Amino acid sequence: MPGKTLENFDFDAVPMISKAQVAALCAGDGWLRHGANLILMGPPGGGKSHLSSAIGLGLLEKGWRVLLARTSDLVQRLQVARRELALEAAISRLDRFDLVILDDFAYVTKDQAETSVLFELISARYEQRSLLITANQPFGEWGKVFPDPAMTLAAVDRLVHHSTIFELNVESYRRRTALQRKQEGPGRPASFATPRNAGRTRRDKPAAE
Ligand code: ADP
Ligand code: MG
Repeated sequence: MPGKTLENFDFDAVPMISKAQVAALCAGDGWLRHGANLILMGPPGGGKSHLSSAIGLGLLEKGWRVLLARTSDLVQRLQVARRELALEAAISRLDRFDLVILDDFAYVTKDQAETSVLFELISARYEQRSLLITANQPFGEWGKVFPDPAMTLAAVDRLVHHSTIFELNVESYRRRTALQRKQEGPGRPASFATPRNAGRTRRDKPAAE
């Protein structure tokens, strides 16, 4: 995503993640060489997509091959391939990417889940090629992404076996910044807008103005 870079990611908003940690991930060597995974979890607005895009861009700059996809779009494409009996080839073609970013993993719909293409992808990449997954729901609620509980368990097992998990349990950044703007106001203190101050004389103005 354009504009979603590390430069404009505010690490103060996510105290559980350090800039140094993310910089290390952007080097790539420590995890992409082994096909390890990165999982970003947390409620909407916490910066998961921003951070994954920033990490993807960082890796691209280092020469790694990265594909960023919305999970449901990629599932759609793999389902088409499956109907054409070309699923294996489609998944093999993704091998050329050192990292596939699956944004909004848990947004896959029930009818998409029925064909298990996502499980095929996860199995094919296991210990070979990395995945970066973002999800609003914890693992316990991934049941709708896969056709049955056994497959959900097997998929989660493979994903987390070699993985770093970041839990961005923070308040929505959008909401937080909107509230801050409201508190600080776009220039004048909010009290100036109230009728109470309408009749103020110049002398009453605070020195700061
Ligand atoms: P999520 O994918 O977790 O739902 P997003 O990454 O889409 O959240 O973040 C929502 C919006 O807030 C985006 O515009 C994003 O750029 C911004 N944002 C979120 N967290 C941060 C942050 N720590 N620093 C700067 N911008 C952020
Ligand atoms: Mg997102």
